[in-house]
Amino acid sequence: MSLDAKVPSGPLAEKWTRFKREQRLISPANKAKYTIIVVGTGLAGASAAATLAELGYKVLVFCFHDTPRRAHSIAAQGGINAAKNYRNDGDSVFRLFYDTIKGGDFRSREANVYRLAEVSGNIIDQCVAQGVPFAREYGGLLETRSFGGAQLQRTFYCRGQTGQQLLLGAYQALCRQISYGAVHMFPRCEMLDLVVIDGRARGIVTRHLVTGKIESFAADAVVLATGGYSNVFYLSTNAIGCNVSATYRAYKRGAFFANPCFTQIHPTCIPVSGEHQSKLTLMSESLRNDGRVWVPKRREDVGKHPNDIPESDRDYFLERKYPSYGNLAPRDIASRAAKEVCDEGRGVGPSGRGVYLDFADAIRRQGIERIREKYGNLFDMYERITGENAYTQPMRIYPAPHYTMGGLWVNYELMSNLPGLFVIGEANFSDHGANRLGASALMQGLADGYFILPSTLTHWLAGVKPGLPPLDHPEFRRCEAEAHQRLKRLLSIGGQKTAVEFHRHLGHILWDHVGMARRREGLLQAIEQIRNLREEFWRNVRVPGSDADLNMALERANRVADYLEFAELMALDALRREESCGGHFRVEHQTADGEAKRDDERFCHVAAWEYTGPDREPIRHEEPLIFETVKLTERSYK
Ligand SMILES: Cc1cc2nc3c(=O)[nH]c(=O)nc-3n(C[C@H](O)[C@H](O)[C@H](O)COP(=O)(O)OP(=O)(O)OC[C@H]3O[C@@H](n4cnc5c(N)ncnc54)[C@H](O)[C@@H]3O)c2cc1C
Repeated sequence: MSLDAKVPSGPLAEKWTRFKREQRLISPANKAKYTIIVVGTGLAGASAAATLAELGYKVLVFCFHDTPRRAHSIAAQGGINAAKNYRNDGDSVFRLFYDTIKGGDFRSREANVYRLAEVSGNIIDQCVAQGVPFAREYGGLLETRSFGGAQLQRTFYCRGQTGQQLLLGAYQALCRQISYGAVHMFPRCEMLDLVVIDGRARGIVTRHLVTGKIESFAADAVVLATGGYSNVFYLSTNAIGCNVSATYRAYKRGAFFANPCFTQIHPTCIPVSGEHQSKLTLMSESLRNDGRVWVPKRREDVGKHPNDIPESDRDYFLERKYPSYGNLAPRDIASRAAKEVCDEGRGVGPSGRGVYLDFADAIRRQGIERIREKYGNLFDMYERITGENAYTQPMRIYPAPHYTMGGLWVNYELMSNLPGLFVIGEANFSDHGANRLGASALMQGLADGYFILPSTLTHWLAGVKPGLPPLDHPEFRRCEAEAHQRLKRLLSIGGQKTAVEFHRHLGHILWDHVGMARRREGLLQAIEQIRNLREEFWRNVRVPGSDADLNMALERANRVADYLEFAELMALDALRREESCGGHFRVEHQTADGEAKRDDERFCHVAAWEYTGPDREPIRHEEPLIFETVKLTERSYK
């Protein structure tokens, strides 16, 4: 089957303008005849829902939180990229585009990435108009800082709370539409299934998490904005509720899952402290603007207090290995470098899996107040968790699962291969290729929601008649019945282990074999282990309570069951991609100095997987990546 990306023809810089010029429109009076379901209220979902309602569509919005503004986007700390060139430091749409496509190791679709860079400036204008309190310079202009993979300062930020402030902006816009009655909001409602009728997405099945009620909703189009799946690793920087279920269930109904093995391990997280831990905490990449990463040169020194190790005995390994980008090398590269020094026995902290992030130089140069102003809340958070004061001694950090570049396959119009199913934000396979640059996820989520989807969805809807299928259609009935049966089955097993125990075990398998370094034998072993664990889960999981009221153990078990299937797809994708690129590092494929070695001849494509049934190998489709403007080179940050 050929995957048509529907990229408009013409020069790269004119494709999006051309799409908009030629897109079909719907008259204002007719828009209200269309119903759109949006699942998810993070930056992608909230911005899309508010904008679609503003355009005049009837919008139904779902999230599993008690309020839309608790979506995981609220946790984003560091900032959002945009090619405004306020600093006059050489930025442009082309440069942001190029940095992003290079940062993703040439595994993303050129036209999408260009469009992302093109609309990035509009996002900042939109958010400023909403009152988002971006940091400002003394003169009043918006302040920017650096993020990894760029040699200039294009990241706009609100201290260490950028996601929170951006989400409050989108949430206000959403609330405005709720108050007009244009958006009907369904909090505490978890999507359990996608309903596909005659090959087209026509609705969803949800469970109300407080009452347990299972219900169906029909629509002219369904938009999934349900975030990423890093929690498949059990320990990650994501909020505990983040999950793969919505996208995975859509996959099981026919939507293709693209590049599931492209996951991002972020270099600057607080190291794991023990088995009891249920989540990890990110220390924003923005800290690498001023923090210097190092470990002792000699193994004998790892036990010493960092302040007692003289300058001459420290190895600033990122500055040494990547002199032109230094501490701002992209995440995949910085993470692997940290792993490498720890593997050599030079890691610090109780587990030996840690490196220092040191602000002493920056404090000496800029003064403690300036550092506090820029990162105060992050330093406070670090102290609350570790009991250590990072103003007086270096932070300890280590890589952790953080973001997922894989997701449901979408074409240029953000529609999946299932007509009527659109996917935005982290939930789609996105514009970040094999590695996302810092501060580009917020940019993508808001670009999708505020600017791209409203045009592309209108274009598609204009070609279909408005009107909803009846909720007693056999497909709705079938999906509801299957949702009920699955919950009953989970409750009836009465085994010995909790879903959390299975999840933790799965996390260990993935971290060991599908984490920062992947090799053929390890991946084969992982697949075997995941299958065994899945078999044990359905025999031995214990889920207390009932499905008729609030039951968080049941919610968790239902999601872990999906992870236990999805993890196998991830490992399989990693196995079949026999090259290294970005965050996907196959040990067998590396350059002489240990960097990722791509195989453009065989793997310059998106791998999109088609579900074929339980316990059957899915089919791998390929969308070739065609680069008309960019020349593929070996990615170097030296
Ligand atoms: C700690 C941290 C810091 C970060 N900092 C930055 C940063 O500084 N800059 C940057 O660019 N990126 C950052 N990121 C990444 C960025 O925050 C995310 O990629 C982005 O916010 C995802 O937005 P989203 O709208 O796609 O999904 P989310 O914000 O994850 O929202 C998902 C929504 O879907 C809903 N949902 C999910 N499943 C279901 C279901 N089955 N049924 C109903 N509802 C469902 C949830 O309730 C939620 O409303 C950070 C990530 C983390 C973890």
